[in-house]
Amino acid sequence: MQSGAIRPIPNMLARKLFTSDHEAFRETVRKFYEKEVVPNIEKYEKQQHVDRDLWNKAGELGLLCTTMPEEYGGSGVDRLYSMILIEEQAYAMDSSTGFSLHSDIVANYINNFGNEEQKQKWLPKMATGETVTAIAMTEPGTGSDLQAVRTTAVLDGDEYVINGSKIFITNGYLCDMAIVVCKTGNTEKGSANLSLIIVEADRAGFSKGKPLNKIGMKGQDTCELFFDNVRVPKENLLGMEGMGFMMLMKELAWERMLVAIICQAGAEAAFAHTVQYTKDRKAFGKPIGTFQNTRFKLAELRTEIDFCRTYLDRCMELQLEESLGVDAAAAAKYKISDMFSKVVDECLQLHGGYGYMLEYPIARAYIDNRANRIYAGTNEIMKELISRTL
Ligand SMILES: Cc1cc2nc3c(=O)[nH]c(=O)nc-3n(C[C@H](O)[C@H](O)[C@H](O)COP(=O)(O)OP(=O)(O)OC[C@H]3O[C@@H](n4cnc5c(N)ncnc54)[C@H](O)[C@@H]3O)c2cc1C
Repeated sequence: MQSGAIRPIPNMLARKLFTSDHEAFRETVRKFYEKEVVPNIEKYEKQQHVDRDLWNKAGELGLLCTTMPEEYGGSGVDRLYSMILIEEQAYAMDSSTGFSLHSDIVANYINNFGNEEQKQKWLPKMATGETVTAIAMTEPGTGSDLQAVRTTAVLDGDEYVINGSKIFITNGYLCDMAIVVCKTGNTEKGSANLSLIIVEADRAGFSKGKPLNKIGMKGQDTCELFFDNVRVPKENLLGMEGMGFMMLMKELAWERMLVAIICQAGAEAAFAHTVQYTKDRKAFGKPIGTFQNTRFKLAELRTEIDFCRTYLDRCMELQLEESLGVDAAAAAKYKISDMFSKVVDECLQLHGGYGYMLEYPIARAYIDNRANRIYAGTNEIMKELISRTL
């Protein structure tokens, strides 16, 4: 059986994004995954979520909400630190931890649109892991078409009363708080009807389903959330009523980048495992890596991986300058998640029958990778966005 932790093969065009400070941080993250996560992946997959205290351990090491301002418990660093966290998760071939959604999506909503009280209340606890968070947009009846959400929040005196349900919610099972996309208006312009409301998990009427039985990413908790006359104070509204859709749009390019980053690093990890395997495995008296078919396949994959890496790192430079376009980010998400699927398929083939066995990381990567083409906006929706700019 192969270990789940591997270093990627250096790209043909050397990467230029990181400083020595970034690399030191990468080492901390790498050790965290090697020590705390990789040995427990099987356990997480059985229970369908990570251990709750893993969040606190990550918080202690400064691995949560790292880019948040220091006054709110973060380290106030650039988003390359988020990139490193995601890459090291992928190099460890882990799909259990939902840190990125918490740190790079939910925290951004609070930091960008929360008032001072909300930031002080939530961000420090999110940075320590005391509070685990989720973002609940998708419903049984709607996913891609967000404007069609049916969960309602109706103002009653000083409280919103929330009714409805959400599905496929990452971190949903362990979450202590969720930002819930609710319908607060009834105007003709669907996008003006949405608001984001902070809902604490211990509110009466808020319940969670069991973790959903997914085909892959089995260690990551994904579940349904139900709201039955859940009352929250009107102070739990994030930003302004009716501005939910606009707020969701602000960080969309970044959210697509998060998926592109995990797919790129996932492909690099799958490739490194496969190169090693083709050196070790023998057929007809020689390593399978010596056959021309294997060498050519690996050369093709390496070329595709490296082309995507160059595009992605360039997107990241633009992201840091805050000038990454929605179309370029959509292209990164769709192209790199497609590339990841192709890479794991070809790599599995090079493993022969062992590639079909779940104790081999390539088998898990083959199953786990599939969701990347669906969430954070399906790849079809990405093509819609790109085509609109033509
Ligand atoms: C593992 C996992 C984790 C997730 N985590 C979260 C989470 O944390 N929070 C959350 O809110 N959601 C989450 N989701 C939900 C995810 O974002 C949705 O599944 C996704 O947006 C697609 O919505 P849907 O499933 O309703 O599919 P649908 O919107 O019903 O789409 C079905 C098919 O129709 C296609 N389609 C739809 N509209 C168009 C169009 N205009 N043009 C062309 N094709 C179209 C789609 O591309 C797709 O192929 C998660 C999903 C998964 C699988």
